[in-house]
Amino acid sequence: MKFIIETNLPGFFNDIAEEIRLFYGKVLISLDDGTEIADPGEKVSVFCDIGENIVCRSSCGEYAYTENAILEDPSNEIIRKKNIRKCIKKSVFRLFKQFNASDTPWGSLTGVRPTKLYRELYTRFGEDRASMIFHTEYDVSDEKTELAKEIMKAQGPFLHKAGQHRADLYINIPFCVSKCLYCSFPSKILPIHSPALNGYLDVLLEELNECMRMVRENHVSIGAVYIGGGTPSILSEEQMTRLLSYLNESVSLNGIEFTVEAGRPDTLSYGLLKVLKNHNVSRLSINPQTMNDRTLAQMNRLHTGEDIAEAFRMCREIGFDSINMDLIAGLPGEELEDFRDSIEKVIALEPDNITVHALTLKKSAALFQSGSMCDENIIKEMTELGYEKCREAGYIPYYMYRQKYISGNLENIGYAKQDKICQYNIDMMEETTNILANGACSVSKFLYSGENRIERVFNPKDIHTYYEKIGQTILEKENRLKESLSSKA
Ligand code: SF4
Repeated sequence: MKFIIETNLPGFFNDIAEEIRLFYGKVLISLDDGTEIADPGEKVSVFCDIGENIVCRSSCGEYAYTENAILEDPSNEIIRKKNIRKCIKKSVFRLFKQFNASDTPWGSLTGVRPTKLYRELYTRFGEDRASMIFHTEYDVSDEKTELAKEIMKAQGPFLHKAGQHRADLYINIPFCVSKCLYCSFPSKILPIHSPALNGYLDVLLEELNECMRMVRENHVSIGAVYIGGGTPSILSEEQMTRLLSYLNESVSLNGIEFTVEAGRPDTLSYGLLKVLKNHNVSRLSINPQTMNDRTLAQMNRLHTGEDIAEAFRMCREIGFDSINMDLIAGLPGEELEDFRDSIEKVIALEPDNITVHALTLKKSAALFQSGSMCDENIIKEMTELGYEKCREAGYIPYYMYRQKYISGNLENIGYAKQDKICQYNIDMMEETTNILANGACSVSKFLYSGENRIERVFNPKDIHTYYEKIGQTILEKENRLKESLSSKA
């Protein structure tokens, strides 16, 4: 199926396309710019009149829908755009909802952070009205509205006020020992402990050194440290020691949450875990994705479910008292019972956090090409079971995010045992703290609290381009950091 969009506001093309994809998934959608196309697909017309109010008329075939909205503050360009975007999205969503039965539990919301929106509404209007707006303005289901509210409340004590001289430090190790078939992250495949990682560390440490200089000069305090990837545990004990020694010397780590993703058990050894423990790492993430050996092999993961359990026990023995485990609902070939088995096995290990992802397949994932997908209704049942099992076992949902192309228009949920909430995950998802990201393929975020906006600085994805442009990205981050610190609410 294909669509062509005819609109008088082409600047909102992506918003219109996102709404269509809620119903049709990864279909081809183009903008009608007057060029003749042989087979353009189904025409969707979206026309807006903007005066004192906004009137947005959408149509597709015999169906039409008109949405009217108030233009809250016409003189404020950011609010004006926000109002227009919301009106267009609602109009297109309701147009398609008339004749398409797809499950859309998050209504017309397509952004990644529903809890952030719920919090904004809650702060402005209170709980009842916030929930009502979720239902009536965004068509969010009762169940998902309750989920957003529950998570927002769990986050309360952990939220920082934007605008403070505070930042989290992110460090990316974009290398893996094999490519998981569902993964779209552009990690480079290297043998474990490869000498090629030394060259990467040289540049990464140069970038970190400059980053910490900016932190000192601008009187920023580091709130949390997170080493992610890729697979950071691909580093040898010596390589990891080099990176962690630098961090111990340059960052005041006392009492700070310091996470390292130790995602793949095939990269973990007692020696490496001891290095992490001896350098103040306080939290680990070991990610089975599934405990089913057949699926693990099919997904090109070079380990078994029992390897995961053994790695977990080794981490506990060394003394790690904060460990996350990730699962994916909807891996190909899995049925509800496979997921039940995985979540029960994970819960039996008693990790401190569990994250349940609904499978998201992007074009760059090998699995995308194969087209072998789990039924979306089963994925929904899996995520519901994940919620039920985690709640029963004493975990609370504490952060959530959605992704483009996420199965069944669902969400990823992080659960935590009491007192084991991960600060970094909340900071990242709720966008209340600057993120200073280092390493190839990482993204820094700077909050301009005075203007209620966020600027991102993207480090190049390609390793060699990252090496070449390092001076430029450091400069850009420094400029953004200064601007964000001077933008007061
Ligand atoms: S899922 Fe994780 S371990 Fe697998 S290829 Fe992607 S980044 Fe690497």
